[in-house]
Amino acid sequence: MDKILEAVMMSSYPNNVKQGLVRRVIEAIKQPMDSEQCWSMLELSTKLYLMGDTKFKREIGKEVLEVYGHYHPEEFEEFFNVRFLLSLLQEGYGPAGKRSPYVLDYIHLGLQFILESPSASDIFSLLRIEVLRKVCERPGPKQCAKISKLLSLHPQCVPTGKHQILFCQQLIRCIGQFQCISEGEDDIMEFLDHVNKVSGLLQKIWRAQTSSILPSLKELFTIISSTEEQEAPSNALASVVQYVPLELMDGVIRNLTNDDSITDVQMMTAISRMIDWVSWPLGKNIDKWIIALLKGLAAVKKFSILIEVTLLKIEKVFSKLLYPIVRDGALSVLLYMLLSFQHSHEAFHLLLPHIPRLVASLNKEDSNSATSCLEQLAELIHSMFFRFSGFPDLYEPVMEAIKALPIPNEDRIKHLLGQNAWTSQKNELACFYPRLASKSDTGKIGLINLGNTCYMNSIIQALFMASDFRHSVLNLTESNSQPLMTKLQWLFAFLEHSQRPAISPEGFLSASWPPWFSPGAQQDCSEYLKYLLDRLHEEEKTGKRIYQKLKESNLMPQAEERHYLNKTLIEKMFGGKMMTKIRCLKCLNVSSREEAFTDLSLAFPPSNRHVRRQSHIAVLPVEEIGPQIIEPPIKPQSQLMESPRRQRKHPVSGLPPIQLLPIETVGFQEAEGQETPFILRSDRDHVSLEKAKDPLLAFGEQTCGSEDSRSVPDLINYFLSPEVLTSENKYHCEKCASLQDAEKVAELTEGPHYLVLTLLRFSFDLRTMKRKKILDNVSIPLVLKLPVLVASEDSGEVGQNRNDRAASCNGFVSVVYDLCSVVVHSGVSSESGHYYCYARECTSTSASSQPRDGAQKSTSDKQLDFEIQWYLFNDTRVSFSSFESVSNVTSFFPKDTAYVLFYRQRPCKQSWAVHEAVSDAVRLHGEPSPNKDLMEAISKDNILYLQEQEKEARNRAAYISTLPKSPLWWRDFDRDKDDEGSSGGCGPAAGGGGSGSFHGLVF
Ligand SMILES: [Zn+2]
Repeated sequence: MDKILEAVMMSSYPNNVKQGLVRRVIEAIKQPMDSEQCWSMLELSTKLYLMGDTKFKREIGKEVLEVYGHYHPEEFEEFFNVRFLLSLLQEGYGPAGKRSPYVLDYIHLGLQFILESPSASDIFSLLRIEVLRKVCERPGPKQCAKISKLLSLHPQCVPTGKHQILFCQQLIRCIGQFQCISEGEDDIMEFLDHVNKVSGLLQKIWRAQTSSILPSLKELFTIISSTEEQEAPSNALASVVQYVPLELMDGVIRNLTNDDSITDVQMMTAISRMIDWVSWPLGKNIDKWIIALLKGLAAVKKFSILIEVTLLKIEKVFSKLLYPIVRDGALSVLLYMLLSFQHSHEAFHLLLPHIPRLVASLNKEDSNSATSCLEQLAELIHSMFFRFSGFPDLYEPVMEAIKALPIPNEDRIKHLLGQNAWTSQKNELACFYPRLASKSDTGKIGLINLGNTCYMNSIIQALFMASDFRHSVLNLTESNSQPLMTKLQWLFAFLEHSQRPAISPEGFLSASWPPWFSPGAQQDCSEYLKYLLDRLHEEEKTGKRIYQKLKESNLMPQAEERHYLNKTLIEKMFGGKMMTKIRCLKCLNVSSREEAFTDLSLAFPPSNRHVRRQSHIAVLPVEEIGPQIIEPPIKPQSQLMESPRRQRKHPVSGLPPIQLLPIETVGFQEAEGQETPFILRSDRDHVSLEKAKDPLLAFGEQTCGSEDSRSVPDLINYFLSPEVLTSENKYHCEKCASLQDAEKVAELTEGPHYLVLTLLRFSFDLRTMKRKKILDNVSIPLVLKLPVLVASEDSGEVGQNRNDRAASCNGFVSVVYDLCSVVVHSGVSSESGHYYCYARECTSTSASSQPRDGAQKSTSDKQLDFEIQWYLFNDTRVSFSSFESVSNVTSFFPKDTAYVLFYRQRPCKQSWAVHEAVSDAVRLHGEPSPNKDLMEAISKDNILYLQEQEKEARNRAAYISTLPKSPLWWRDFDRDKDDEGSSGGCGPAAGGGGSGSFHGLVF
């Protein structure tokens, strides 16, 4: 019989003919036959099965074997004996040896027929040893899958006791070496199937014997934490973790994170590799294990590992959101990573360049999974915007990408942000910040945030960018006997000459700190600015008093006298004058008082009384002029307005023209058609203003933002509009010698060189007794015309006293101002939030050297408005920006609102003196160079910084070399260009380094 079958198989007949012949042989062998005949048939079919060179041969072999198993069980059992199996497993069969891929299938096939036989237990015990031996030889995924299939079906063959633990560990090592060689979809599916079979066996073993779980996991951790292997372990290991019971998670993680024998580098390696597991498809609970380990590390304060791992892997995790098959796991890991990484914007900023593309492709996908992912992503992004404000230029493209998605409310954001942050203390993390920050491309230097000190940083940068002021400060001589001014000089000099990307203003902060400010808390930047300017002014005045004494003792040469008797620097730069006139409504007596100011605090007009000022406004309205209609600087002769009416801009069109006359002519006659009730407005003082203002405003109705858009000129017009003092605000008239109703009006009599405007956004809510913020968007003109009341050429004599002068005034001039800086407050109350500053450098050369000729003028204006570079100062980060970004900031980020504005006066007659003084200084000394001590200190510090940089670069190189490499095969599988992402995203975050790299410098 065996001869016939062999002859048929070896013949050259076509397969269908062979098939027919074989059928007949098979029918025949079902009949009883002698054992010798059986043996040779079993030998032949074994040979066909294990060595057959065609699938046909192997199938015939298999079929014959099965017939013998069924019809001749005794003979089969005798043939399929322990010794034969041992030789099969150890030596293999025929020329293929033990590498023959069919040995395991053959054993699998035979086992089913001997299960009940007496020799079965011997065979099982043989297999228990032999499978262990096999897995120690590290077979590939296919072989492992075969072993696993065999053992899953025949659990009697699973090694027991210590051998079982060893078997599990060795099997895990095998998985760790699995590679999917092909990129074809079928091959990948097959690979996944193999891996699942192997991990499925582990699951079965663990279920039956829970004591083998922990040793298995230990082995797994050893593999993934190993820093010695050249090649990273396979991501297929992820499939093992999904079968670990979740109730063991806490204990496992606790043991791992508290194990002192695990070094940081090992832990770092392990967690990075685990994070790569998010790309393992269809795995359950993998994200839970990753997050559990991240949380465990946070619990033991291993922040350096967490920071490194997050920055290393976050883009990779993000890129997995593209693939539905791994999306859910990747998203939950991403959410955890970002919401825990709150000490710095760095991780979030790595993702910014990738967000628009991902959103676009998720939108295109149009599936439930994509929609839900988009919604969660939008929620996350808004939370990050909330947490890290002050980067409008970086955030705008992202905002644009997610604008159609729902915006979470603030409570939800706070809830999300409150969940997983490692720590609320920024400083706790400062020392874990080994990253090098490079100096901004802008060439400008940032200021380190010393714990909610962005209010000061923004003001300092705005003052620094006020170049006339900066030049004057830098030009001060060493012996100026003004300690605070000297400190400012040093700070400015470092901001100009340091090589560092950012410097610490610690010394200046402690010197300029208003005593009532509580350390570490957010403060009102406008309050700080006022305090600072006042201190600097007083300091210089004190110096002058000392000079007076010196002069009396004749120690001061005459030439310096004039200098010391001039205005203080603060007065020259920021000082303006304002005339307040109060007219008693009974006797019509007018009293006026001139006051100096360094900034104007502008209240918001009540929105429902918007038209009020049209009824009786008598001053020249402030104008906003766009770049296209800028007029050349007005010559002294043409400065006086022939008729203010021509200059009047009606705030609302369609209303009848109003009788407008200069305030001197008409101002204090009986005003007709006054509205009742009167809108009350007390003086412009920041604090007392709230009480007397329209109650609607005080009760925060404005905070919702009104429909009517406001502009800075609107606010100035409101500021300059007359106000009636009545009821509890009645005015004490000296002439009447009693309290009377009165009308009060303010006029600018001297425009400051730098005009500082504070928008009074913080109103006091009497109901809640809290300060509330008015979030209205206020449009900010690049160029502003301010009406300044001046004495006419003839009457403006020097010797006149103030009142006489006021009376003789007969005209307004329009003083033109260019926008220099905008300090933005981001947040909903003055005690919280963040400040950042937009600024550009307006100089005399850019503003005053305009030709008078009309045609050329427009080019020059363009230069002024468009070519002067805008910068965005956000603590340590300085970036290029634009006026567009300044103008749009509130519409993109509703709680980011302009708060303090700096305008610079274009040269005109009034300000000639200052301009000349400044340009003289520049002409004489070139760019001001700081004094010798200061220059030495700066160059010393630059050398120190260079040394720090070198040291850090060395440390970092050493650190990086210990980091794990990415696993190889998976990269090809999902076709994400692994390395492209990490380098592409670095740009925006560079320069945002924390204080760790700057601790050397305090001055
Ligand atoms: Zn009176």
